[in-house]
Amino acid sequence: MDFESFFKSELDGLHEEGRYRVFADLERQSGNFPKAFRHTADGIQEVTVWCSNDYLGMGQHPKVTTAMKMAVDQCGAGAGGTRNISGTNHYHVLLERELADLHGKEAALLFTSGYVSNWAALGTLCSKIPGVIVFSDAGNHASMIEGIRYSKCERVIFKHNSVADLEAKLRAADPRAPKIIAFESVYSMDGDIAPIKDICDLADKYGAMTYLDEVHAVGMYGARGGGIAEREGLMHRLTVIEGTLGKAFGVMGGYIAASTALCDFIRSFASGFIFTTALPPALAAAATASIQHLKESQQERFAHQERVRRLRSLLDRNGIPHMDNPSHIVPVMVGNASKCKWISDLLLDNCGIYVQPINYPTVPKNTERLRITPTPFHSDADIDHLVRSLHQLWSRCAISRAVA
Ligand SMILES: *Cc1c(COP(=O)(O)O)cnc(C)c1O
Repeated sequence: MDFESFFKSELDGLHEEGRYRVFADLERQSGNFPKAFRHTADGIQEVTVWCSNDYLGMGQHPKVTTAMKMAVDQCGAGAGGTRNISGTNHYHVLLERELADLHGKEAALLFTSGYVSNWAALGTLCSKIPGVIVFSDAGNHASMIEGIRYSKCERVIFKHNSVADLEAKLRAADPRAPKIIAFESVYSMDGDIAPIKDICDLADKYGAMTYLDEVHAVGMYGARGGGIAEREGLMHRLTVIEGTLGKAFGVMGGYIAASTALCDFIRSFASGFIFTTALPPALAAAATASIQHLKESQQERFAHQERVRRLRSLLDRNGIPHMDNPSHIVPVMVGNASKCKWISDLLLDNCGIYVQPINYPTVPKNTERLRITPTPFHSDADIDHLVRSLHQLWSRCAISRAVA
């Protein structure tokens, strides 16, 4: 086989469908978030990042960067092994305690990313519990889907956020089969929020375990940043809460928080936990500092929510259509793949505004969008510049406006 031509022709297919991904070559500026230098063939351009998942700017917080630097000096760069074979550092142990406390659980278990935590934890639960049926929300993240698929267990997809459809499917299933309901709190692309209480009620009624991905909520919701389940007083009703250290906490890594037995079970049976080098101790130290700070400080959460409200109201005033939702994610709807890419390119090249276009298959066709994520560090001037630039582009390319 001519491997090179195979690879190239597959890539040509992506180009033709307008799905080929181009990465912006950014150099983030600590202390000046959300500004970054963009490296291009023509030189260096200063841009404002409007699509970062470092939602609160914690990646540059002095407590976080100081903790990271101190831990590097103290323990060195890497962990030096898997958790089992010499890689468990005291910073991992402290972080797991911090995470268990954050979610009001007995224990927590770290993974190298949120993706790996979903894949490994859900995959292991689904493959090891005999005869288990997993009920998975249709909007679930790829990492949960891959974990479920890998387990080869029976799976039932319920309509996104539909309690009625979930109940119909639970009722139709074998009453004796063990069941897991897997879902998210804040969904990344539409920014909508699951009816967690109703789903927990159904889980009780049908004897199911609940697995909640709070990746887009931890650090940002709840009095201590425990997520939507904390805000709604529901943490104790969830069997497993999964989160990332890479978004609002500003670092990297993933975890589950659950009972001691469940975490010990995943620790002992999940290949995605066992056979991989532990996170660098400095990442664990930095994440711990970030979590501890956000447990006590409301300032970042309040400022974040105020920035989101301000952006939304200016978009409304200018007739820029955005999906209404109860979260911090502002999807500005374009509804056409090539226009979405075109707007994004012009924003970047002409206005110094970086917001990546979100196209199929990440979102359904005809719902292409700019997924905008304001942070406490976007100034009034940044917001004005973004809205003014969008306003001009909307006029130029005749995209439908929201009816005022
Ligand atoms: C980003 C994301 C993950 C993966 O987390 P990482 O730490 O980035 O690997 C998991 N679930 C959802 C819903 C996500 O958006």
